[in-house]
Amino acid sequence: MLRYRRNWTAVILIAAAAVITLLFAKSGDENIGSPWRFHRNIEVMETCRLEMLAVVADTVDICTSIVGEGFLGGAVRELGISGSQYLSTCEVLMDSLGWSVQRAGDTLTAIYNRGELSELRAFPGNRRGFYRILFSEGTPSSWEYVPQEKWIRQRVISCDISSTVWEALWDTALPPDLTESGILITGRDSSRAVGYVSELQHELTDRLFCYDIDFYYDVRVGDKLWILIEENRYPMDGETGFRRILAAKYQFVHGGLAEAFPFFHRPDDAESAEIIFDHYHRDGASLRTMFLKMPVPFGRISSVYSDARMHPVLGYTRAHRGIDYASPLGTDIYAVGDGTITVRSWCGGYGNLVRVRHANGYETGYGHMNGYASGQSVGSYVRQGEVIGYVGSTGLSTGPHVHFEMKKNGSYVNPATEIMPPANPLEGAELERFLTEMSVIEEQWSMLVGIDLPVPEVEIEPETVVEEPEE
Ligand SMILES: [Zn+2]
Repeated sequence: MLRYRRNWTAVILIAAAAVITLLFAKSGDENIGSPWRFHRNIEVMETCRLEMLAVVADTVDICTSIVGEGFLGGAVRELGISGSQYLSTCEVLMDSLGWSVQRAGDTLTAIYNRGELSELRAFPGNRRGFYRILFSEGTPSSWEYVPQEKWIRQRVISCDISSTVWEALWDTALPPDLTESGILITGRDSSRAVGYVSELQHELTDRLFCYDIDFYYDVRVGDKLWILIEENRYPMDGETGFRRILAAKYQFVHGGLAEAFPFFHRPDDAESAEIIFDHYHRDGASLRTMFLKMPVPFGRISSVYSDARMHPVLGYTRAHRGIDYASPLGTDIYAVGDGTITVRSWCGGYGNLVRVRHANGYETGYGHMNGYASGQSVGSYVRQGEVIGYVGSTGLSTGPHVHFEMKKNGSYVNPATEIMPPANPLEGAELERFLTEMSVIEEQWSMLVGIDLPVPEVEIEPETVVEEPEE
């Protein structure tokens, strides 16, 4: 049993912790915007207050134990709980609260008030949040699952590109409070850091700017990047996670600026509560084209669109009105554009097939799937890039691949040569609202960064020379 936080030892520990926290908070302030400082200070104050209350009263004991090898009973006993109290505690945790599976590393904390057990908290390592049992006269009186409190905060990232975008983000984008200690110590800390930067980079290069910037060929040393992001802050764990990019600007050293601004589409009917979030250029044009180039994240074209070819299974010449992408079994298959699922079933030679109906008379099909994404059915609305299934080899197929086809107004078209129309631009009242919100965002963003962020140069129409009639 680990008994601590008593008298002088506790006072010294808390004082040391407070000093370290404040030092850390100060050093971290230099490279980040201001909005989170406020939260952080409140958090530190609250922690100190609780600790001080416990110490000053000198009536509270806090014991902690760690579940070893998934054995709950041992950890409960280590807290000094025994007899009928032991039985009732285990029963509440496992039956009433439904915490049936424990893992090595889950922790328990018992709070004793004047020697009597008053509260027990169980922290499953795989969840954010904890189980709490309150005791009255030694027996459990009430219990609940307390979900972890989460704040959403905004932060600005400014980087100079000196080699790759990944390296620039790795050097500048990680929040100083990514982990509880503020530094990367354990393997878990490092993987969280890598995960954070990968998610951010994926959103930036594969989603936001995938049509505007070729991140292999266009990037030059001296380019600049500004990102306004949202983060999830979990005060109880002292951890931070990436949420999404609100806005971004990429300035090329040789001139030119790519921009992304957010717009929240409010649903027309009250029933669909989900607010759709998209990114737009300054003029209200969508950053996206209507379709992605391919329905898998990586893959090799194993068969192109043609009107006549030798079919590998049937052995005779047959048109192949689609493109085959060979990809490993189980690879994600994306909907290439926003739309509604119209087919999601076995369909002869296609094997497991999904069809999606899009705007402007387009329809796409994805064949030979190994399985479908969960939570969708015929009639589900899917977004561009949303996973709808997984690469397989069902139906008439010689190996794992996705057969991808596209129809326009009912006839097959070659997805590779079909001109990809831009996704719907904002118009009318929506455009007006977007322009107002954009200028507010840009102003606040500039304030957070502390400089006037660049705006595109206005193209000046060459003066029309009015030719004087010759006399
Ligand atoms: Zn095919």
